Amino acid sequence: MDHWRDPSYDTRPALWADATYEQWTDWRWQQRARARDLDALDACANLSPDERAAFDASSELFHAAVTPYYASLIDRDDPGCPIRLQAIPQPGELVTYPFELDDPLAEEAHMPAPGITHRYPDRVLFYVSHNCPVYCRHCTRKRKVADPTTAASRAQLSAGLDYIRDTPAVRDVLISGGDPLTLSDERLGELLVALRAIPHVEVIRLGTRNPVTLPQRITPALCEALRLARPVYLNTHFNHPREVTPAAGRALRMLADAGCVLGNQMVLLRGVNDDPETVLTLNRKLLSLGCRPYYMLQCDMARGITHLRTPLSTGLAIMDHLRGRIAGMGVPHFVVDLPGGGGKIELTPDYVRERRDGPHGPEIVFRNWAGEEFVFVDVAADGDRD
Ligand SMILES: *Cc1c(COP(=O)(O)O)cnc(C)c1O
Ligand code: SF4
Repeated sequence: MDHWRDPSYDTRPALWADATYEQWTDWRWQQRARARDLDALDACANLSPDERAAFDASSELFHAAVTPYYASLIDRDDPGCPIRLQAIPQPGELVTYPFELDDPLAEEAHMPAPGITHRYPDRVLFYVSHNCPVYCRHCTRKRKVADPTTAASRAQLSAGLDYIRDTPAVRDVLISGGDPLTLSDERLGELLVALRAIPHVEVIRLGTRNPVTLPQRITPALCEALRLARPVYLNTHFNHPREVTPAAGRALRMLADAGCVLGNQMVLLRGVNDDPETVLTLNRKLLSLGCRPYYMLQCDMARGITHLRTPLSTGLAIMDHLRGRIAGMGVPHFVVDLPGGGGKIELTPDYVRERRDGPHGPEIVFRNWAGEEFVFVDVAADGDRD
């Protein structure tokens, strides 16, 4: 037995004052006790009149739900709290623009089997659940996440597996959702075993926000199921340093011990993490826990999330700041997922100041991360050199 004790219990909101430590650390209790209605959200976040109105008006469009654990990270008195902005409906959700899309990545259009998006030749997204512990207000899959009528049935999961089995080009399966850890250990374990048994499936990935929103879900039994399929590339979704708590750190350590290769997919969000020092701090913390920043994602053109978007220049400025201040392993790829199913493209700061012909070949004047200039002498394509 270990004697680890989760300190988030001691800072739990008054709404859950009666919870025992055993309940608090039990993910099923956390899932059942989620704040879902106006009174519960108000009790943990001290809603403003605008937020109350936003809750009422948005509840038809995209439910709200917050685990007691994640609610314990909200600063009740700070209207700009980065946890609040991700978890509590904001008035901006009700403002829609003509360019916004219900399915910004055209995931439904590239669906050869129910629950499978096959866009790149070698890899598929496999949606296995439409539920999540917390419904992130910036979710790109709002259109179906949180709607229990769209959840994958056992028949649908096996149809997805059949498609993968029958499509030898698929080397890489990304188990996604919703949050796949909403499935029971047994069902997830069966799914992993079935995927491992397909000879052409070389890489298994799993995307989950549970280490952030419900770290209690990372149990020894879950880790055993993951270990049997190792290595599972597990990408999680930390957006702010305040989410990297002792409980989250422990969850990551257990996953790493189970042979998972850990990565983080941060979404760039206005008011949450749109500043270079916040991302630097987050990425340093993640690296120290064995979790590599993989993607920094530009917020998509989904409906009702434009208030959370940042200009592309913000992401580029963050990339510029990271390089030189943290190991290359801590520098994510800054990507835009193109609307209409164009796929991901990577944006990088422009380090080229000038291109010119020099006495010994083409010269490129670069600037480095600190803004200093350096001249690099290139070779011609045919290798000739004066
Ligand atoms: C993001 C994504 C993937 C995985 O992309 P990587 O760049 O390999 O991480 C695969 N399929 C779809 C449809 C995606 O959107
Ligand atoms: S965990 Fe992922 S799928 Fe679920 S609501 Fe958040 S962003 Fe959407």
